[in-house]
Amino acid sequence: MHATKDRTPRVTPLDETTTRWSDWRWQLRHRCRNLRQLERFLELSPPERQALEQTREILPVAITPYYLSLMHPGDPQDPLRRTLVPVMGEFATLPGDSPDPLDEARDTVVPGVIRRHPDRVVLLATGVCATYCRYCTRSRLVGGGEKLTGHWDQAIAYIADHPEIRDVLISGGDPLLLSTSRLDGLLTRLRAIPHVELLRIGSRIPLVLPMRITRKLVDMLRKHHPLAVSLHAIHPRELTPLAQTALARLADAGIMLAGQTVLLAGINDSLPVLADLMRGLLRNRVRPYYLYQCDPIPGSGHFRVPVEQGLRLMAGLQGHMSGYAVPRFVIDAPGGGGKIPLASETVVGRDARGWLLKNHLGEIFCYPEAFVE
Ligand code: SF4
Repeated sequence: MHATKDRTPRVTPLDETTTRWSDWRWQLRHRCRNLRQLERFLELSPPERQALEQTREILPVAITPYYLSLMHPGDPQDPLRRTLVPVMGEFATLPGDSPDPLDEARDTVVPGVIRRHPDRVVLLATGVCATYCRYCTRSRLVGGGEKLTGHWDQAIAYIADHPEIRDVLISGGDPLLLSTSRLDGLLTRLRAIPHVELLRIGSRIPLVLPMRITRKLVDMLRKHHPLAVSLHAIHPRELTPLAQTALARLADAGIMLAGQTVLLAGINDSLPVLADLMRGLLRNRVRPYYLYQCDPIPGSGHFRVPVEQGLRLMAGLQGHMSGYAVPRFVIDAPGGGGKIPLASETVVGRDARGWLLKNHLGEIFCYPEAFVE
C-alpha cells in the first residue's frame, strides 16, 4: 500500500515571490486541505480545530494558497476565512434544513441536467471546485471526488432534443476548473445546437484562483458568444489587483459578467460591506445581479441572516447607490419554487414555520427562519 502523497506546500503559501504563484495548476496542487496544513499558516481557534479534526463526510476543505494569503492568520472571525474554514456550526441541523433544499433531484431530467423552466436548464458539468464554500447549496454533490463529467453525452442529447431550451447555465462544481480544451469541447457541442442562444458559466474562479483566467482560456471563451459568467462574489476584499485583472480580461473579451452574492452572517451582512462589494463589482464591469438569502442546508445555520435584516440592507442599498449596483434580493424557494424576489408584494406573511412567499405563479412557499444567533 502506498502512503498518501504529502501535498503540504514546500514554500509558504504566503510567499508571493515564488515564480509558481501565478501558475493556477501549482495553486491547485498546493491547496490546504486539512488541519495539519492549515495550522502552518493560521492560528486556528478551538472550534475550527475541532471541526477540522472531524471526518468531513460531505464537503471537503480546500483553500488555494492565493485565497489563504487574503485571510487574516490571527483572526478566526476574518470574513474570508469564515467562508472556507469549517467550524462546529457546520455539524448542526436546524428545522427545515435539507441537503437538497431546492429539490434539484426532483427536477433532474437526465443525469446532470436540472430543468425547472421551459426555456433554460442547468448543466452540472463537474463536481470539482478550487475552494469549498462552507454554505454550498450543492455540498451534497461537490467535492466528493465525483467529476460529474461522464454524463455529458446524455445531457447534450437531451438539450438538442428540446428546441424550447434557449439558455444553458453550465455549473457544478466550477466549470472553469475544467481544462481549456475540455471546456472548449463542451461549449462547442452546446453552441452547435441551433436553438441554444445563451451560454452561461457559473464560477467563483476569478476571485479564488484568478490566475486561471489566462489569455488562452479567454481566447477560447470568446469563440462561444453570446457567453456570460455568473460570478459568485461575497466580499469586497476579494477584488484584489489579480482578481481585477482576471475580470478585465473576461470583460474585454465581451463576456457578460453578472454578480451573485450570498448574504452571510458576520461576512457581508452590513451596509458598508455590501455597498463596497456592489460598487467594486460594478467598477470591474460586473453587474450585481442577485443577493441570495442563504439556502437552508444542514450546517448553514450560523451563516443565515434574518430575512428582515436582508430587507433592511436592500433598502439601504437602494437609497444610496446607482441602480446598476443594486442586486435583486431573492430566496431560491425551498421545494423548487424558483427564485422569488423579496419585496413587499412577494412576502405574504409569516407563521410558526417561517416566511410565506409567493412566486411568479402565485404559489406559496415557506422559507424556515431558523438561524443561529
Ligand atoms: S464554488 Fe460554488 S459549487 Fe463550489 S463550493 Fe462554492 S458555492 Fe459550492
